[in-house]
Amino acid sequence: MAFLTEPDPQRRVALPVIPGISRIVANNPSLMTYHGTNTYLIEAEDGFVVLDPGPDDEGHLDDIIAATQGKVSSILLSHTHSDHLGATSALKARTGATTYAFHLSADPAFFPDVLLRDGDPVVGMTAIHTPGHASDHLCFARPDGIVFSADHVMSWSSSIVSPPGGDMAAYVTSLRLMLSRDDHLYLPGHGPPLPNPKPYVEELLNHRVKREQAILQALLIEPSTTWTLVERLYSKSHPWLKRAAERNVVAHLLKMQMEELVVEEGECWRAKE
Ligand SMILES: [Zn+2]
Repeated sequence: MAFLTEPDPQRRVALPVIPGISRIVANNPSLMTYHGTNTYLIEAEDGFVVLDPGPDDEGHLDDIIAATQGKVSSILLSHTHSDHLGATSALKARTGATTYAFHLSADPAFFPDVLLRDGDPVVGMTAIHTPGHASDHLCFARPDGIVFSADHVMSWSSSIVSPPGGDMAAYVTSLRLMLSRDDHLYLPGHGPPLPNPKPYVEELLNHRVKREQAILQALLIEPSTTWTLVERLYSKSHPWLKRAAERNVVAHLLKMQMEELVVEEGECWRAKE
């Protein structure tokens, strides 16, 4: 995969992305979040739109307030994972901004002010329901071909698809949906901007198809547990990355189970004859 990298970004300041859009990279770097969550600040007529407030971190919240002078009119949420949602209620409390998110929240403790459905207009953009990484995942598309792709398509890595919130069949469908569009720049939830995204999305899709074929091949040789499949098919050595790989394998197996290609028998999975 042709993943993009970027040097350690400057912390605690809004970094320009394109005219009218900047980002603050939250201080939550990890093997799963790269340098940290991108909190986007979008200039609007009545203040700023904040897309993904980021993790529950007082310093990050202060940085958003400083960069916007507290003038936040709207808070958009791509999905309810804590590295995106965490600071939302505190930011709303400090600014009085209206929150927007998918109408079926995957976090039972979070209720947005405005419930979004696929295709809904929101602050000059269109919400696109893109389940897969998370059931409530939204991308936000601008009319100029720029899409906030959040964790559905990230430039630095493929996405973890971890059931039950993650769904591989939905993820693949949501990647195909992105391929059916003609956008020219993605601004992801982690990592640098991704220009010319279509060939990259095609690569992501091929990568998953190949992975699925490899899992099926392995199961045709012998029934295996998910961890045996991880050992056989992945080169990861870090325990976190192994765990992420195992979640992706489970997601593939559940998709293939639905398609009646594999069956689960106790601890093991086997290919269907
Ligand atoms: Zn994330």
